[in-house]
Amino acid sequence: MKTLSILGSTGSIGKNTLEVISRHPDRFRVAALAVRDNIAALEEQIQKFRPDVVAVFDEAAAARLKLNNPPVEIVEGEQGMIDVATLDGVDTVVSAIVGSAGLVPTHEAIKSGKDIALATKEALVMAGGIIMSEASERGVSIIPVDSEHSAVFQCLDGRDMGEVEKIVLTASGGPFLNKSAEELEHVTPAEALNHPNWAMGNKISIDSATLMNKGLEVIEAFWLFNVPVEKIGVILHPQSIIHSMVRFIDGSVISQMSVPDMKGPISYALSYPDRIGNILPELDLAEIKQLTFEEPDTKKYPSLSLTYDALRAGGTMPCVLNGANEAAVEAFLDGSISFTGISRVVSGTMAAHKAGKGETIEEVIRASEWARKKAGSMIKGLTNNKKACIKA
Ligand code: MG
Repeated sequence: MKTLSILGSTGSIGKNTLEVISRHPDRFRVAALAVRDNIAALEEQIQKFRPDVVAVFDEAAAARLKLNNPPVEIVEGEQGMIDVATLDGVDTVVSAIVGSAGLVPTHEAIKSGKDIALATKEALVMAGGIIMSEASERGVSIIPVDSEHSAVFQCLDGRDMGEVEKIVLTASGGPFLNKSAEELEHVTPAEALNHPNWAMGNKISIDSATLMNKGLEVIEAFWLFNVPVEKIGVILHPQSIIHSMVRFIDGSVISQMSVPDMKGPISYALSYPDRIGNILPELDLAEIKQLTFEEPDTKKYPSLSLTYDALRAGGTMPCVLNGANEAAVEAFLDGSISFTGISRVVSGTMAAHKAGKGETIEEVIRASEWARKKAGSMIKGLTNNKKACIKA
């Protein structure tokens, strides 16, 4: 029996994780859940999974959590998230908080020796060096939940990295695959949220439309698999059936396929090294008929090049890219900037940043806050311009 804490239990990954657990109650027990503010969904999860502890980040929301539930300890705020991440008796922490808010609890979980099923890619994007060296010092396993990295992990299957020539991450191309770079100027948040293959949260859906998500995944792969940046490539594969592949030095390519459903990578991260049944429907290739591939157009998707630039610059630069992107995506979703404005904000913020070494969590958090602030002032500039244009 594996005992789990789930950080971000009411998000898309959290819900899928609980679905996997409910199909295998003999293998997994939920000791703790952590959410930002979705009390209604948390109450249902408490009824069904009977955790010992729940954390609610938003303190006003925590006050709304009814106390007539089954007996459960309620903790609050960032400290509450850390309490859940470091709870005694927990074997594995599922790290599935969206964005930079997941960094500190994930780091604390590793420091307390918990294995990590990692969905919060920002933890590695912001602080990959710190996270990976802490994990190796403490003998902690970090098993990827991100579908691409789960695929690579499965293809590598413990092989010597000297045998690897290239890791190739697949990208669906998102909802705008067939739009031109010019047409992207005018797309709306609703169009950008409408992903063709994957049902995901808002932030990651926008990141998929800009391909920033793939860029963040390049950074994630760099840290997880300890490969030089030149050995990580990206290819567009609109059907999302091949989740990624590894080319070996003998020319062999091993890929991992399944229907696109996050329960696949989640169950593998929880049950590794075993495989468990009753997770995904059969992949019917005769029905799908065609798998297609194309090179990503970096003019149309500038975010992808920006992430390679950030990785080459190193230190705090990937963290700044991520912070600026978070602020820019929020501004796009609330209508303040255009879709193409997102990469302009990220690029401008990076250009203004003098990268530090990024050797402590405090330093990366400071860099992230600086990036959000700098991006915020660039967003204001773009918004004013937009208003001026409308008047003219
Ligand atoms: Mg992914």
